[in-house]
Amino acid sequence: MSSLFRHWSAKLRARLAPDTQQSAEVQDSLVRSLYASPASLMIGAVAGGALSYVVAHHAQRVEISAIAALIFLVALSRSVSAVYFQRELAHQDGPTRPIWGLAYELGAWGYAALLGLLAFATLTLTEDASLHILSVCLVAAYSGGIAGRNAGRVHIAIGQTCFALLPTTLGLCIAGGLGYWVLATMLFLMIFAMAEITRTTHRIVVEALQGKYEKSQLATKFERLARFDSLTGVENRMAMQMRLRDLFDRRRSDQDAMAVFWMDLDRFKEINDSLGHIIGDQLLCSVAARLSHAVDDRGYVARFGGDEFILICPGADSAVAEQIAADIMAEFVHDFDVSGYHLTVTASMGIAVAPDDGRGSEELLQHADMALYKAKHDGRNRHARFSWSMKERQNRTYELEMGLRTAMANGELLLHYQPIFDTVTGKIAICEALMRWDHPVMGRISPAEFIPIAESSSLIESITAWALEQACRDAMHWEDHVRVAVNISPALIKSDGLPRAVIAALLGSGLKARRLELEVTESIFLEDSGRTSLILSELQRIGLRLALDDFGTGYSSLGYLRDYAFDTLKVDQSFMRGVGESGRDRAIAQSVAYLAHSLDVETVAEGIETEEQLRYAREMGFSNVQGFVLSKPMTADDLLEMMGKMKRERSDVVTLMKDRRRA
Ligand code: C2E
Ligand code: MG
Ligand code: MG
Repeated sequence: MSSLFRHWSAKLRARLAPDTQQSAEVQDSLVRSLYASPASLMIGAVAGGALSYVVAHHAQRVEISAIAALIFLVALSRSVSAVYFQRELAHQDGPTRPIWGLAYELGAWGYAALLGLLAFATLTLTEDASLHILSVCLVAAYSGGIAGRNAGRVHIAIGQTCFALLPTTLGLCIAGGLGYWVLATMLFLMIFAMAEITRTTHRIVVEALQGKYEKSQLATKFERLARFDSLTGVENRMAMQMRLRDLFDRRRSDQDAMAVFWMDLDRFKEINDSLGHIIGDQLLCSVAARLSHAVDDRGYVARFGGDEFILICPGADSAVAEQIAADIMAEFVHDFDVSGYHLTVTASMGIAVAPDDGRGSEELLQHADMALYKAKHDGRNRHARFSWSMKERQNRTYELEMGLRTAMANGELLLHYQPIFDTVTGKIAICEALMRWDHPVMGRISPAEFIPIAESSSLIESITAWALEQACRDAMHWEDHVRVAVNISPALIKSDGLPRAVIAALLGSGLKARRLELEVTESIFLEDSGRTSLILSELQRIGLRLALDDFGTGYSSLGYLRDYAFDTLKVDQSFMRGVGESGRDRAIAQSVAYLAHSLDVETVAEGIETEEQLRYAREMGFSNVQGFVLSKPMTADDLLEMMGKMKRERSDVVTLMKDRRRA
């Protein structure tokens, strides 16, 4: 018997115990559901209070009156606490305090027990059948209602049913009579029926709440994924754009300051390529952490993608922006320790500050990017502030880049040739091909402007291939000893496309390789690599000549003269310009001429503008001269005409100059 009792009591306890598997959020929602409709609580309180008063009034028994008074008091306090709970909820975001669950539990059980006690007292202390019906009905109705209302907390609802129905059942049994016994049995069975209804309702409610909770968890997770950069943990590009727009719109006035920084690591690709992506990723995480530290609570950090970061600082004017920029740059003074590597990393940054630098969020961002470009262009490891002149330049650059894409197909590009004369014979030795662009709207554009644009896009390769082809074709109309020189951009020296384009131009035109000279500048040695020397020697193996252009202005080492066998050295016009006045310029030009002579390398004195400079060039022993005083660059037709005239009249550069002087 005792083991049977233990079994049932354990089962009951297990059924009544709160479910610890449920998440705190679901538990919290269940407590809230108890207080969810204070109106129903109040209606119950009013009904309970009124009926107990009627019973007490008619019974005229002090015990019943005392119970009715207690019922009234408990009902009142529960109604007040429900209103109070709702108020507290309105002012608080977090979970409800556990005391509310306990308070409800005690109040509910106390109220149920008092109703049960009222029915018991009415049934046992009075003989009035109508009062019996009233009190039993009150308990039965209450128990029926409670099963659904308090299903959020099963043990409370079942406890209430038991506290209300058991004393009533007992009272009915004591009062006696067939009808009362039948009623007692039914009320007793009602306890189990209500318990079952409560549990079923509870299960449905919990499942619904759990589903809702899981959905909200999932939504939070997705929102996080959508807003934050999974690698570095800072906001991502989309979130940054939204934030910027939002902050911009929320400014109190159009005059409110706001700074946007666009930062990019210098040579990150090299780190990534040489040390691997894992190290690269770790470096980006460290950079994000340092940026967040530098900006602190002055703004927001976001990763725009790759190694680019955006920082938004609301309220930061020019002075504050400068300070923040200095703080950020200071973060890069110390090496980054990544997986045992000490990485020295520098960064470049563009700054745009509203309202001076832009009136819309997109515009501000664009201008910060423009300023970043300037910082990179000026040598990296620095920050630059946007200026409107940058914008004008960029617009022109953009227009030129767009135009350049179709310029070749539209026949807007052409080659001019500038003859280079042999100082001994006075005859034309080489003609340098110099590209011209006749833009349909902007007119003639200098190669000094459009070649760098072609270099920064992928257009330079096709443009150079075209120049090589055209120059070789034109050179086929010249005397056999005259060479053609074509300028080659430093970036192309590393590309396989160059030897291919050279061979195609030679084969296509039938020009002998020794008549083609490629002019490269010293900057090809800035990022010297095995590829540079490989391609240079490959080109020379074909029989091509190599000229070092603008000699003396770039890379200040003579070491490469030993390593690379150039055929011609072209001394930059800046030295030749000063030979008349400056003894130092004369000394430099003279030394280069000697050096080249000893190395058995031809020389060209570039940019000869006066007869005095020409005389010096000859005296110093330059093998060739080039300059406006001799001849300006001209069209292929004009060059042919000049060549024909010189041949017919057996003239040389001296007679040419005499003719010009006379004219
Ligand atoms: P560069 O190769 O040093 O060419 C010589 C430049 O000096 C030419 O300018 C020429 O017109 C100019 N020049 C010649 N004699 C004198 C002189 O006596 N006084 C002065 N002040 N200038 C003189 P241009 O044609 O404007 O070309 C500028 C630069 O553009 C060239 O410098 C070259 O680096 C580049 N370039 C021109 N055509 C091409 C090309 O087809 N491909 C590539 N990659 N670059 C080119
Ligand atoms: Mg040149
Ligand atoms: Mg030059």
